[in-house]
Amino acid sequence: MNLSTDHLAIRTTCAYCGVGCGVQATPKDDGTFAIAGDKQHPANKGRLCVKGSTLGETVGLEGRLLYPQVREADGLRRVSWDAALDKVAGEWRRIIAEHGPDAVALYVSGQLLTEDYYVANKLMKGYIGSANIDTNSRLCMSSAVAGYKRAFGEDLVPVCYDDLELADMIVLVGSNTAWCHPILFQRILKAKEARPEMKLVVIDPRRTATCELADLHLPVKAGTDVWLFNGLLNYLSRIGAVDPRFIEQHTNGFQAALDVAHADCADLAVVAKICRVELSLLLEFYELFAATHKTITAYSMGVNQSSAGTDKANAIINCHLIGGRLGKPGMGPFSITGQPNAMGGREVGGLANMLAAHMDLERAEHRDVVQTFWESPAMADKGGLKAVDLFQAIEEGKVKSVWVIATNPVVSMPDADQVRRALDKCELVVTSDIMQDTDTTAYADVLLPALGWGEKDGTVTNSERRISRQRAFLSAPGEALPDWKILSLFAQRMGYTGFDFGGQHGVFDEHARLSGFRNAAADVPRAFDMSGLAGLQQSDYDALEPTQWPVRRTASGELQTEVRLFKDGVFAHADGKARFIATAPRLPRNAVSEEYPLSLNTGRVRDQWHTMTRTGKSATLADHIAESFVDMHPQDALLSGVKEGELARVTSEWGAMVARVQHGGGIPRGSVFIPIHWSGQTASDARVGAVVNPVVDPVSGEPEFKHTPVRVEQFRVNWHGFILSRDALNLDSIAHWTRIQGREFARYELAGRNTIKDHAGWSRALLGVGDPDADWLEYEDKTAGVYRAVHVVNDRIEQCIFMSPRQDMPSRAWLASLFAKEQLSEIDRIGLLVGMPVEKGADTGPTVCSCFGVGRNTICNAIIEKDLKTVAEVTACLKAGGNCGSCVPEIKKILVQTRVEAEEVRL
Ligand code: SF4
Repeated sequence: MNLSTDHLAIRTTCAYCGVGCGVQATPKDDGTFAIAGDKQHPANKGRLCVKGSTLGETVGLEGRLLYPQVREADGLRRVSWDAALDKVAGEWRRIIAEHGPDAVALYVSGQLLTEDYYVANKLMKGYIGSANIDTNSRLCMSSAVAGYKRAFGEDLVPVCYDDLELADMIVLVGSNTAWCHPILFQRILKAKEARPEMKLVVIDPRRTATCELADLHLPVKAGTDVWLFNGLLNYLSRIGAVDPRFIEQHTNGFQAALDVAHADCADLAVVAKICRVELSLLLEFYELFAATHKTITAYSMGVNQSSAGTDKANAIINCHLIGGRLGKPGMGPFSITGQPNAMGGREVGGLANMLAAHMDLERAEHRDVVQTFWESPAMADKGGLKAVDLFQAIEEGKVKSVWVIATNPVVSMPDADQVRRALDKCELVVTSDIMQDTDTTAYADVLLPALGWGEKDGTVTNSERRISRQRAFLSAPGEALPDWKILSLFAQRMGYTGFDFGGQHGVFDEHARLSGFRNAAADVPRAFDMSGLAGLQQSDYDALEPTQWPVRRTASGELQTEVRLFKDGVFAHADGKARFIATAPRLPRNAVSEEYPLSLNTGRVRDQWHTMTRTGKSATLADHIAESFVDMHPQDALLSGVKEGELARVTSEWGAMVARVQHGGGIPRGSVFIPIHWSGQTASDARVGAVVNPVVDPVSGEPEFKHTPVRVEQFRVNWHGFILSRDALNLDSIAHWTRIQGREFARYELAGRNTIKDHAGWSRALLGVGDPDADWLEYEDKTAGVYRAVHVVNDRIEQCIFMSPRQDMPSRAWLASLFAKEQLSEIDRIGLLVGMPVEKGADTGPTVCSCFGVGRNTICNAIIEKDLKTVAEVTACLKAGGNCGSCVPEIKKILVQTRVEAEEVRL
């Protein structure tokens, strides 16, 4: 009999991207939790992508920071919370007394819950009296915020997810939605399946997985989006695809914006040339846009992470304003946020240039509202240091202490080696984190253990302004505390009142009340208003259903929300009108040169998140892409003297890193793409942040992650190899390594420069196998320099090492499968000695579908043997692509390639 355990399920939200999917965690008999999508959550309606589905694999306590620690001359020492917080409070009091409040800073994160964020912001801006609090959201969506504020008068996302299904055309700009916001992409695809006439246009320099299912792909040159959208504005005006009534009654600045667009972008042939797209494609897009009223333009990092990011956002918004394409179902400019609570951070003023509840630091009446509400002693009255400036000020000695919360700037910031130098020089570095060892905690003087996903409790807000509860279902490990609590305890030690919150519910209530405080037309009106959620009882807060803001209470006490904004054409500027912004196009600040001839673009891969401190724990997620890579056009590889599969050094004026060369990522000539995820914990030398230029957008301060001039050259090594080991290994002596989480083992990809005379002795020493009688199977071809050895304990594989001067080595997927066996068979042992599986089908190949663990070889074989012709047939046969759907574009590509290759063989 199957008893439903749904009634035991705890409803929470995913820890990763800004889609903000609802998750159900259901206890299992073995004490762990089953993770599934929450069918009642409006964002995902029960679906999860592979990152969300594998959240359960990331909640183990391996590597967790469990106790407060203070660094002393001989290393870290465990201390009590009192001792740790006393130390920080004592130092901050001294520094503030000697150098003023701007000599300290908080650097926080879009991973925080809104309650954490609220307390951090209140502490810094209202009590320390400095706006030196910035967030890693600066790195992903501050240009979108600035764009909305300039156009609408407040940071307001006008649309909702349902609009994606109601639109007749969706334009995705600078967004690999299939990989980075997979559930939204699935919603778009389902809508397109139901209404095939709905158009999907992708604007991206790369031909990403998102393009595989698009009707039109415009591979614009990186950094030329303003030309593209100014050209569109001009075109729409010229052909009369405008809404003069809307422009007249609801906007300002049209003529100035049009004049600027006309100056550079009147000639479509010129626009096409600058954007490096065919004129026919450009015209096709312009004609589609002009003909389709219900259009959503959704954009993310490809727009935001640019030295012209804010102008790009406004150039897009201008094209919606000209035809009145917003405020109604199925239309509007839609910034899709990267992090789970970037939006919550925006609500509480988590950015250095914002005040709480969507108010502005520069406006005296806004400061007055906030200070009156907080009854705070020392209100900041000017913007603080934005992320890049902050770490430069730390290196210059202007900021003496920084407290880094839930983020890893030594990996994620541009010019990341500068961040290392800054933290190294900083008088007092404090980190609040869930992990003991990160590239940033290595520089911490005080380490404070925070709660992680599954343990903490509060709210997050997703890209469509929907507030959802994140609920704890795991108990707090060690002495870890919620971030709001750590900050409140610290504030009390600093002598501040106003931080005696009884729990996260009290923080939320204060946040909701502030949003409604003096928020009236006759006082200081703001569109951001969640006063309808003020005064909730604890039980109502605990049971809060996902709710979009604005949310107010009617006179009769009913909650009233707005799913989409501006339906009455009234905007948040004082005159109630939206602004067209004149956006003169400009290229990225640093041009490519003879020394650095290629443009580096950075971004995410499908199955990893940020710096892998959590997703790196999941063997399922590691299966898809194991190592960092530099994706480049074959002709650029040829000119750079590197080959696919080999390691290459990528160097810019700011730093260098090493990654494996690959083709096939749809990269145009002149560009390379490198993922952002690998850190000093997961690879010897793969931090792409060290290479990225620290150029920022002048309005938003967002760094230009999508363009850095670089050169690529061979990373010379004498041998290649890999190890699978049940025990962790120290490989610091090896020229290049990457560590990959496997099931019950870690895999290490290696490349060395040393000459090894005695392979057996060297390998035994590296793997720690000192016993001469150990069960050690080995094969060596001394002439060819090929060596492989397997250490077996009680008939179970314990470790294996494979080395060769060439890259072509055995399948890791096959070897990984042997670690799942309690006992090796004779056939397995023979396979290990000959270096390949003996049984047919034993090598499934690299994982394509992470949800069902289906490898590339399995898919290719099925396509040939069963004559599969469509993705649906592959899914029916192997399940691959049948869950989250993130791999559907990849399966489609494999299908085409495999069938073409098979046809060529047949001919
Ligand atoms: S799309 Fe995936 S990563 Fe994003 S919130 Fe949903 S489950 Fe999490």
